[in-house]
Amino acid sequence: MDTFTAIDKEFDKKHIWHPYTSMLNPLPSYGVTHTSENKIYLDTGDVLIDGMASWWSAIHGYNHPKLVASIHKQASTMSHVMFGGITHAPAIELCKKLISITPKTLDRVFLADSGSVSVEVAIKMALQYWISKGHKGKNKLMTAQKGYHGDTFAAMSVCDPVNSMHSMYQGFLPEHIFVAAPKAKFDEQPSQQELDSLEQAFLEHHQHVAAFIIEPIVQNAGGMNFYSPSYLAKVRQLCNKYDVLLILDEIATGFGRTGKMFACEHAGIAPDIMCIGKALTGGTMTLSATLTNEKVAVGLSEGEAGVLMHGPTFMGNPLACAVANASIDLLLENNWQAHINRVNLAMAELKRCESLTSVVNVRILGAIGVVEVDKAVDVAKIQRFFISKGVWIRPFGKLIYIMPPYISSTEDIHKLADAIYHAIDKQQY
Ligand SMILES: *Cc1c(COP(=O)(O)O)cnc(C)c1O
Repeated sequence: MDTFTAIDKEFDKKHIWHPYTSMLNPLPSYGVTHTSENKIYLDTGDVLIDGMASWWSAIHGYNHPKLVASIHKQASTMSHVMFGGITHAPAIELCKKLISITPKTLDRVFLADSGSVSVEVAIKMALQYWISKGHKGKNKLMTAQKGYHGDTFAAMSVCDPVNSMHSMYQGFLPEHIFVAAPKAKFDEQPSQQELDSLEQAFLEHHQHVAAFIIEPIVQNAGGMNFYSPSYLAKVRQLCNKYDVLLILDEIATGFGRTGKMFACEHAGIAPDIMCIGKALTGGTMTLSATLTNEKVAVGLSEGEAGVLMHGPTFMGNPLACAVANASIDLLLENNWQAHINRVNLAMAELKRCESLTSVVNVRILGAIGVVEVDKAVDVAKIQRFFISKGVWIRPFGKLIYIMPPYISSTEDIHKLADAIYHAIDKQQY
């Protein structure tokens, strides 16, 4: 047995911020010593089956030998070099791959360092495009409620206004135009009324709107809403009709998670600008990309500024690009669709929760499973229960959801579903 450095949780609790927590009364943090495949090992000796893929990212599971090897190889050659005035093979190879797997029209790539930053870049691209075209009045964004696009300020300004506390930041946050969240479910057709009110918003505001931004098919952190591909197709059509750019945020949905390589394929459409991140490096390092088409790339470059005003220090980081290349290769050579289908079938076990009176509904798409319950979950309480059952699941609000690594066995997915069933049945939430 390996020995691991002891984890000083007292220090952690007093001095270190964790995502979305108070410094006064933080939720407990569990000490993790190591990971392997779809398992997380705690310092208490507990071994947990991972249901979260570390927030959509670890699609191949942890410590995959091919990903580890690519990191070792690249680290011994060149971990980092500035991208200003310099280029290198890992970045070029990655951009070639991204152009080949994303919708055909997307052929210009900006490499950024996190999902939120890729959204910032996408917004800048859209604004600068219209400035270049001489339409300075097109300086607002339009989006749907229940969205989530990241925690930096411009990204936050297009997140759901309630979930991301827009009122608290009033006066500081730019104010954009919100339409209702998509109502028709994944397997439904939107009502004429839903489509009409969407068009009404375009009709009313298009002269001031640079771009419509939305997560395709799955609105994730804003409520795990799986919506109709016809709604998304309508958004594309309205963007064309009213001269508005379309930004799709595929940061969570990309790389197979919804059953298509990119979720926009469900609607058979392409955006003008696309953001990707999370699973891009197979959950090993932070890296994101903003892709766009010739119209936007050339349009914004022809204008007064001439250049896109963005350039992070770690842009195109070779180490992150190398492991992203290895992750995409792994996905393509491993028949990813068969894996997603298998995970999807195994998740049908979640349907058993429908028999529980406190369950509002169960929804499954690709390798995502959601159980919505009738009240906000007590996260600390339910996690204690989950740990006792040997699973790692972190709910939010009324949503208990899983998006496990694609390599998860059917048996392990059944264990995740079982733990969720018993947590609800035994009122452990
Ligand atoms: C996670 C996420 C982001 C933000 O990405 P970070 O890497 O956390 O900055 C943006 N949009 C969507 C849809 C996401 O799921």
